[in-house]
Amino acid sequence: MRLSRYFMPILKENPKEAEIVSHRLMLRTGMIRQQSQGIYSWLPLGKRVLDKVNRIIREEQDRAGAIELLMPTLQSAELWQESGRYDAYGKEMLRIKDRQERPMLYGPTNEEMVTDIFRSTVKSYKSLPLNLYHIQLKFRDEIRPRFGTMRSREFLMKDAYSFDLTREGAEHSYNKMFASYLRTFSRMGLRAIPMRADTAPIGGHLSHEFIILADTGESEVFCHRDFVNFDIPAADTDFDDVAGLKAIFEKWTSVYAATSEMHDEAAFDAIPDGERLSARGIEVGHIFYFGTKYSEAMGAKVQGPDGKEHIVHMGSYGIGPTRLVPAIIEASHDENGIIWPASVAPFDAVLINMKAGDEACDKACDSIYAALAKAGKDVLYDDTDDRAGQKFATADLIGVPVQIIVGPRSVASGEVELKDRKTGHRETMTIEAAINKILG
Ligand code: ATP
Ligand code: MG
Repeated sequence: MRLSRYFMPILKENPKEAEIVSHRLMLRTGMIRQQSQGIYSWLPLGKRVLDKVNRIIREEQDRAGAIELLMPTLQSAELWQESGRYDAYGKEMLRIKDRQERPMLYGPTNEEMVTDIFRSTVKSYKSLPLNLYHIQLKFRDEIRPRFGTMRSREFLMKDAYSFDLTREGAEHSYNKMFASYLRTFSRMGLRAIPMRADTAPIGGHLSHEFIILADTGESEVFCHRDFVNFDIPAADTDFDDVAGLKAIFEKWTSVYAATSEMHDEAAFDAIPDGERLSARGIEVGHIFYFGTKYSEAMGAKVQGPDGKEHIVHMGSYGIGPTRLVPAIIEASHDENGIIWPASVAPFDAVLINMKAGDEACDKACDSIYAALAKAGKDVLYDDTDDRAGQKFATADLIGVPVQIIVGPRSVASGEVELKDRKTGHRETMTIEAAINKILG
């Protein structure tokens, strides 16, 4: 992508409305724009990061056996009357009427709708286990939307819903998502800690929130330091191995971790000195086993091996992609800007032409750009006539992992400079060596 033809509206000044660093940097780099309170457009640079985040989520959902579909944002109130949540949900739900005066709503979540799909299509236990997910916009009329897309009113959610014949089956489905979440967040450079969550509103079964530690987090969290060293499940994890997944779940829930709502001071104090971690955290995911709450109310049942009808056991599993993007920035930035982990970076490299219009510089840049593009790398080519200093500042601000710096002096001897955004390390090498290094 040539910067001269791209759309990346960088702000020179720090936006005053932004209280936390991720919000500030997302506005400054032109990743997002607020359209009305708590409602954002994702501009091209932000959209690229969001797509990478979603891709990792998809790959890990698919690996764990979940199947993607797409349900609508607008839902009929009738479904929610069946579950009893139409009245229970309160003011967070945006209620609308269509031209026939039929009550509709902008979905804050999809349990009812997916249960409706299930009950009208699945008849036999042979179709189970089943886990259906989508990545779709949600709307919740939050009292206090803030921190940009960290807590917005319209936001993207990956929500998955599992269906099983028995409670044991449902626990395995839960463990699959548990392991899948550990992998998902780790691939984005985050260490998310599963913390026991309150199940009171639905009736107590299994529930964990996945929390990343950050000073600007909205939740107060307490946990054992050991979490920092636990192994992430490998890519070849067998998601059908019931005992294997149970072992992963047990390991990751073997030491203390709780948000303030679930905090048990005595249990926390029992952790040896120096191993207690009390910090602030950001909830990036939430998994929930809720048994037959919706299936019972809405009549979602299958014929079992015994020939009788069984109400299915369900769970739901959420991740917030539009919250994850700022969460990654909170975890990875410095005074000059964002430092993207390579897996979610909007571009693989930025190519800085220090003297656009200079024949030798242009030629070198064109050849590097063509070679990297041919190899499938996404390169942002700064071919503008801005000052070199400004180009360096922009490259640091947008946080692309590698900068290829092409200036008249080094190009004369066939060389360019590579700069690693994270370490700041610079190295001069031949053009060919630079290309090979980026192609790894
Ligand atoms: P919170 O406690 O932060 O209000 P929640 O518990 O209501 O979130 P869930 O219903 O568990 O949220 O939603 C699943 C995921 O969706 C959350 O873990 C979070 O990543 C994301 N999410 C929820 N609300 C928002 C929001 N207002 N803005 C952005 N992401 C959100
Ligand atoms: Mg939650």
